[in-house]
Amino acid sequence: MRITDLLNTNKVTFSLEFFPPKTEEGERVLFEETIPKLKSLNPTFTSVTYGAGGSTRNQTLRIVNRIKKEFGIEAMPHLTCVGSTREMIGEVLEEARGMGVENILALRGDPPKGETQFKATEGGFSHSLDLIEYIKEKKHFAIGASGYPEGHIECSDKILDWDRTAAKIKAGAQFLVTQLFYDVDAFLTFQDYLRTKHKVTVPIIPGILPFLGAEQVKRFTAMCGAKIPSAILHKIDACKTDEEVRNVGVDVCTDICSKLIKHGTKAIHIYSLNRVPSSEQLVKNLGLI
Ligand SMILES: Cc1cc2nc3c(=O)[nH]c(=O)nc-3n(C[C@H](O)[C@H](O)[C@H](O)COP(=O)(O)OP(=O)(O)OC[C@H]3O[C@@H](n4cnc5c(N)ncnc54)[C@H](O)[C@@H]3O)c2cc1C
Repeated sequence: MRITDLLNTNKVTFSLEFFPPKTEEGERVLFEETIPKLKSLNPTFTSVTYGAGGSTRNQTLRIVNRIKKEFGIEAMPHLTCVGSTREMIGEVLEEARGMGVENILALRGDPPKGETQFKATEGGFSHSLDLIEYIKEKKHFAIGASGYPEGHIECSDKILDWDRTAAKIKAGAQFLVTQLFYDVDAFLTFQDYLRTKHKVTVPIIPGILPFLGAEQVKRFTAMCGAKIPSAILHKIDACKTDEEVRNVGVDVCTDICSKLIKHGTKAIHIYSLNRVPSSEQLVKNLGLI
């Protein structure tokens, strides 16, 4: 089903993101342990990331196909422009369509390792906007795009970045999923800007990461330029074990999501990191099952 239809409900819903495991054993655990447990929480949809440099094209589509067929849960592949010509992207889309995929998260992708600037592949796309326009021409998929409540890290002017986000919606994106953030006001300001300045009406789904370790959350936020508010940082730094950090991660995300829901958020996207306990606890804390 199209995510745009799935989100058309009065209930608060949540979705789960997975990444393609690197090994056969990892995929076995994902399908025999992780997804069966998380399925019982009744996620509205799932999404599967596309590896850096387009490196997981086959795995991403295979995992999406398996989630749809074996669990009957809607699954959306992420798709990036990295290392791909227009024709190559066209082939991925054809393959996805053949598998019954109806939704695509359309992204530009990061520059390859060791490079600081994104360079379009010859015959490929420079921005996610171009990919969105291309997918729209296919007239088959519901298209999602990224949003950055604190601005994209390569763009020194966050308002300009938000204007570009609005352009993606104008070009055909039908919902946004945001980068992770821990500053609720940043999300609300971003959302308010899009709603008032650009009259954006599509769902803006906050991306929520219940972090699993102190180094991990510091690394992830540094990579994407998200702030960790000092009150949260103090809680993390006061932890003595990973277990304590994990619990802080769930508490912090419960607090963020509760505030967002009070402000009208209807859908939450959880970066599950292919793990059960934190996502499960977060969903239970929010009373979403
Ligand atoms: C929800 C979510 C899921 C993600 N999943 C993946 C994944 O599966 N695999 C992966 O590799 N990466 C993933 N990423 C990371 C993403 O690929 C990077 O953040 C990447 O650097 C930007 O991709 P984008 O689609 O947001 O880029 P764009 O929307 O193209 O923006 C990138 C930069 O270009 C600028 N820009 C945009 N449009 C224009 C324009 N028309 N003219 C000039 N400048 C412009 C923007 O301001 C921004 O600075 C994800 C990010 C999010 C938020």
